[in-house]
Amino acid sequence: MKDIITIDGPSGAGKSTVSKLLAQKLGYKYLDTGALYRAVAWKIKEENGDPEDEKTLDHIIENIKITLNDDRVMVNGMDVTSKIRTPEIGELSSQVSALPIAREFLYTIQKEIGLKGNIVIEGRDIGSAIFPEAKHKFFLDASAEERGRRRLKELKQRNLETNLETTIEDIKTRDKRDSTRQASPLKRTKDMNYIDTTTLTLEEVVTKIMEALKTP
Ligand code: C5P
Repeated sequence: MKDIITIDGPSGAGKSTVSKLLAQKLGYKYLDTGALYRAVAWKIKEENGDPEDEKTLDHIIENIKITLNDDRVMVNGMDVTSKIRTPEIGELSSQVSALPIAREFLYTIQKEIGLKGNIVIEGRDIGSAIFPEAKHKFFLDASAEERGRRRLKELKQRNLETNLETTIEDIKTRDKRDSTRQASPLKRTKDMNYIDTTTLTLEEVVTKIMEALKTP
Protein backbone atom coordinates (compact mmCIF):
# COMPACT_ATOMS: atom_id res chain seq x y z
CA MET A 1 0.00 0.00 0.00
CA LYS A 2 1.22 3.51 -0.80
CA ASP A 3 1.98 5.67 2.20
CA ILE A 4 -0.99 7.07 4.13
CA ILE A 5 -0.52 9.07 7.34
CA THR A 6 -3.66 9.46 9.44
CA ILE A 7 -4.14 12.26 11.96
CA ASP A 8 -7.21 12.08 14.16
CA GLY A 9 -8.32 14.02 17.20
CA PRO A 10 -10.89 16.44 18.60
CA SER A 11 -11.56 19.98 17.33
CA GLY A 12 -8.79 22.47 17.89
CA ALA A 13 -6.09 19.90 18.66
CA GLY A 14 -3.98 21.38 15.87
CA LYS A 15 -4.69 18.70 13.26
CA SER A 16 -5.12 20.98 10.24
CA THR A 17 -2.07 23.17 10.72
CA VAL A 18 0.11 20.21 11.66
CA SER A 19 -1.16 18.05 8.80
CA LYS A 20 -0.60 20.77 6.22
CA LEU A 21 2.94 21.47 7.40
CA LEU A 22 3.75 17.77 7.61
CA ALA A 23 2.43 17.16 4.08
CA GLN A 24 4.50 20.08 2.82
CA LYS A 25 7.68 18.75 4.47
CA LEU A 26 7.13 15.26 3.08
CA GLY A 27 6.00 16.41 -0.37
CA TYR A 28 2.70 14.61 0.23
CA LYS A 29 -0.85 15.60 -0.56
CA TYR A 30 -3.18 16.67 2.24
CA LEU A 31 -6.84 15.82 2.81
CA ASP A 32 -9.01 17.64 5.35
CA THR A 33 -12.00 15.30 5.75
CA GLY A 34 -13.80 17.74 8.07
CA ALA A 35 -14.18 20.03 5.03
CA LEU A 36 -16.28 17.32 3.36
CA TYR A 37 -18.70 17.15 6.31
CA ARG A 38 -18.78 20.93 6.43
CA ALA A 39 -19.57 21.09 2.69
CA VAL A 40 -22.57 18.79 3.15
CA ALA A 41 -23.71 20.81 6.17
CA TRP A 42 -23.39 24.05 4.21
CA LYS A 43 -25.59 22.66 1.42
CA ILE A 44 -28.23 21.59 3.96
CA LYS A 45 -28.25 25.10 5.39
CA GLU A 46 -28.53 26.60 1.90
CA GLU A 47 -31.63 24.51 1.33
CA ASN A 48 -33.05 25.23 4.81
CA GLY A 49 -32.97 21.51 5.53
CA ASP A 50 -32.92 19.69 8.86
CA PRO A 51 -29.37 18.36 9.49
CA GLU A 52 -30.66 15.42 11.48
CA ASP A 53 -33.26 14.28 8.97
CA GLU A 54 -32.26 11.34 6.74
CA LYS A 55 -34.68 12.26 3.93
CA THR A 56 -33.19 15.75 3.62
CA LEU A 57 -29.77 14.22 3.54
CA ASP A 58 -30.74 11.66 0.88
CA HIS A 59 -31.88 14.48 -1.34
CA ILE A 60 -28.73 16.52 -0.72
CA ILE A 61 -26.41 13.60 -1.36
CA GLU A 62 -28.04 12.90 -4.71
CA ASN A 63 -27.55 16.47 -5.80
CA ILE A 64 -24.19 17.48 -4.36
CA LYS A 65 -20.82 17.47 -6.04
CA ILE A 66 -17.92 18.30 -3.76
CA THR A 67 -14.58 19.11 -5.35
CA LEU A 68 -11.35 19.81 -3.52
CA ASN A 69 -8.87 21.95 -5.47
CA ASP A 70 -5.71 22.42 -3.42
CA ASP A 71 -7.02 24.48 -0.50
CA ARG A 72 -10.35 25.40 -2.13
CA VAL A 73 -13.60 23.58 -1.38
CA MET A 74 -16.21 23.70 -4.15
CA VAL A 75 -19.85 22.62 -3.88
CA ASN A 76 -21.60 22.22 -7.23
CA GLY A 77 -19.09 24.63 -8.75
CA MET A 78 -19.38 27.29 -6.03
CA ASP A 79 -16.35 28.18 -3.92
CA VAL A 80 -17.45 27.70 -0.29
CA THR A 81 -13.97 27.65 1.30
CA SER A 82 -14.57 30.43 3.80
CA LYS A 83 -18.35 29.94 4.07
CA ILE A 84 -17.86 26.49 5.66
CA ARG A 85 -15.50 27.79 8.38
CA THR A 86 -18.08 29.37 10.68
CA PRO A 87 -19.01 28.03 14.15
CA GLU A 88 -22.56 27.48 12.87
CA ILE A 89 -21.41 25.18 10.07
CA GLY A 90 -19.04 23.46 12.54
CA GLU A 91 -21.99 22.59 14.75
CA LEU A 92 -24.21 21.59 11.81
CA SER A 93 -21.49 19.37 10.35
CA SER A 94 -21.16 17.57 13.66
CA GLN A 95 -24.91 16.84 13.62
CA VAL A 96 -24.75 15.68 10.01
CA SER A 97 -21.74 13.48 10.69
CA ALA A 98 -23.71 11.38 13.18
CA LEU A 99 -25.95 10.10 10.36
CA PRO A 100 -24.68 6.85 8.81
CA ILE A 101 -25.78 7.83 5.29
CA ALA A 102 -23.59 10.92 5.43
CA ARG A 103 -20.64 8.81 6.53
CA GLU A 104 -21.26 6.18 3.84
CA PHE A 105 -21.42 8.85 1.15
CA LEU A 106 -18.19 10.49 2.28
CA TYR A 107 -16.46 7.15 2.92
CA THR A 108 -16.23 6.50 -0.84
CA ILE A 109 -14.86 9.97 -1.58
CA GLN A 110 -12.22 9.66 1.15
CA LYS A 111 -11.20 6.18 -0.02
CA GLU A 112 -10.81 7.32 -3.64
CA ILE A 113 -8.60 10.23 -2.72
CA GLY A 114 -6.60 8.43 -0.03
CA LEU A 115 -5.82 5.29 -2.02
CA LYS A 116 -3.74 7.33 -4.46
CA GLY A 117 -1.27 7.38 -1.58
CA ASN A 118 1.51 9.63 -0.31
CA ILE A 119 -0.99 11.65 1.60
CA VAL A 120 -1.66 13.06 5.07
CA ILE A 121 -5.35 12.67 5.99
CA GLU A 122 -6.91 14.34 9.01
CA GLY A 123 -10.27 13.74 10.64
CA ARG A 124 -12.01 11.89 13.44
CA ASP A 125 -12.18 8.29 12.19
CA ILE A 126 -9.42 8.05 9.61
CA GLY A 127 -7.12 5.68 11.50
CA SER A 128 -10.00 3.80 13.11
CA ALA A 129 -12.51 3.38 10.25
CA ILE A 130 -11.41 4.80 6.88
CA PHE A 131 -7.79 3.63 6.71
CA PRO A 132 -7.32 1.36 9.74
CA GLU A 133 -4.54 -0.42 7.81
CA ALA A 134 -2.41 2.76 7.49
CA LYS A 135 1.12 2.31 8.73
CA HIS A 136 1.43 5.64 10.49
CA LYS A 137 -1.43 6.74 12.68
CA PHE A 138 -1.50 9.69 15.06
CA PHE A 139 -3.99 11.05 17.58
CA LEU A 140 -3.56 14.71 18.48
CA ASP A 141 -5.12 16.02 21.64
CA ALA A 142 -5.02 19.10 23.91
CA SER A 143 -6.98 20.39 26.89
CA ALA A 144 -10.42 21.83 26.05
CA GLU A 145 -9.30 25.26 27.33
CA GLU A 146 -6.26 25.34 25.05
CA ARG A 147 -8.30 24.12 22.09
CA GLY A 148 -10.85 26.84 22.80
CA ARG A 149 -8.11 29.49 22.88
CA ARG A 150 -6.71 28.31 19.54
CA ARG A 151 -10.12 28.19 17.91
CA LEU A 152 -10.96 31.68 19.21
CA LYS A 153 -7.72 33.09 17.76
CA GLU A 154 -8.57 31.55 14.40
CA LEU A 155 -12.12 32.95 14.46
CA LYS A 156 -10.90 36.42 15.46
CA GLN A 157 -8.43 36.42 12.57
CA ARG A 158 -11.40 35.95 10.32
CA ASN A 159 -13.36 38.70 12.11
CA LEU A 160 -15.96 36.30 13.48
CA GLU A 161 -17.44 37.64 16.70
CA THR A 162 -17.42 35.27 19.69
CA ASN A 163 -15.79 34.82 23.11
CA LEU A 164 -13.66 32.23 24.87
CA GLU A 165 -16.40 30.82 27.06
CA THR A 166 -18.77 30.19 24.14
CA THR A 167 -15.96 28.75 22.04
CA ILE A 168 -14.94 26.26 24.76
CA GLU A 169 -18.59 25.28 25.27
CA ASP A 170 -19.05 24.74 21.51
CA ILE A 171 -15.94 22.60 21.41
CA LYS A 172 -17.10 20.48 24.35
CA THR A 173 -20.55 19.95 22.80
CA ARG A 174 -19.02 18.86 19.51
CA ASP A 175 -16.48 16.59 21.21
CA LYS A 176 -19.21 14.88 23.15
CA ARG A 177 -21.36 14.30 20.08
CA ASP A 178 -18.38 13.23 17.94
CA SER A 179 -17.14 10.70 20.48
CA THR A 180 -20.46 9.23 21.59
CA ARG A 181 -22.22 8.80 18.24
CA GLN A 182 -22.90 5.25 17.03
CA ALA A 183 -21.44 5.68 13.54
CA SER A 184 -17.61 5.77 13.54
CA PRO A 185 -17.13 7.88 16.66
CA LEU A 186 -13.98 9.85 17.35
CA LYS A 187 -11.82 7.16 18.88
CA ARG A 188 -8.21 6.67 19.83
CA THR A 189 -7.06 3.13 19.03
CA LYS A 190 -4.07 1.41 20.61
CA ASP A 191 -1.99 1.54 17.43
CA MET A 192 -2.23 5.35 17.22
CA ASN A 193 0.67 7.46 18.32
CA TYR A 194 -0.80 9.81 20.96
CA ILE A 195 0.49 13.38 21.13
CA ASP A 196 -0.76 15.89 23.70
CA THR A 197 -0.18 19.24 21.98
CA THR A 198 -1.35 21.45 24.89
CA THR A 199 2.09 22.87 25.62
CA LEU A 200 3.76 22.21 22.27
CA THR A 201 4.32 24.54 19.33
CA LEU A 202 3.29 23.56 15.85
CA GLU A 203 6.90 22.87 14.89
CA GLU A 204 7.42 20.69 17.97
CA VAL A 205 4.42 18.56 17.06
CA VAL A 206 5.60 18.16 13.48
CA THR A 207 9.09 17.23 14.71
CA LYS A 208 7.63 14.56 16.98
CA ILE A 209 5.65 13.11 14.08
CA MET A 210 8.69 13.16 11.75
CA GLU A 211 10.69 11.32 14.44
CA ALA A 212 7.95 8.71 14.81
CA LEU A 213 7.83 8.20 11.03
CA LYS A 214 11.47 7.10 11.12
CA THR A 215 10.64 4.11 13.31
CA PRO A 216 9.51 1.19 11.16
O1 C5P B 1 -12.44 18.97 11.60
P1 C5P B 1 -13.64 19.85 11.50
O2 C5P B 1 -13.92 20.63 12.73
O3 C5P B 1 -13.62 20.71 10.27
O4 C5P B 1 -14.87 18.82 11.30
C1 C5P B 1 -16.20 19.24 11.32
C2 C5P B 1 -17.07 18.11 11.88
O5 C5P B 1 -17.09 17.04 10.93
C3 C5P B 1 -16.57 17.47 13.18
O6 C5P B 1 -17.08 18.09 14.33
C4 C5P B 1 -17.06 16.04 13.07
O7 C5P B 1 -18.36 15.94 13.58
C5 C5P B 1 -17.14 15.79 11.58
N1 C5P B 1 -16.08 14.92 11.11
C6 C5P B 1 -16.25 13.56 11.23
N2 C5P B 1 -15.32 12.71 10.72
C7 C5P B 1 -14.23 13.17 10.10
C8 C5P B 1 -14.02 14.57 9.99
C9 C5P B 1 -14.96 15.43 10.53
O8 C5P B 1 -17.23 13.12 11.80
N3 C5P B 1 -13.36 12.31 9.60
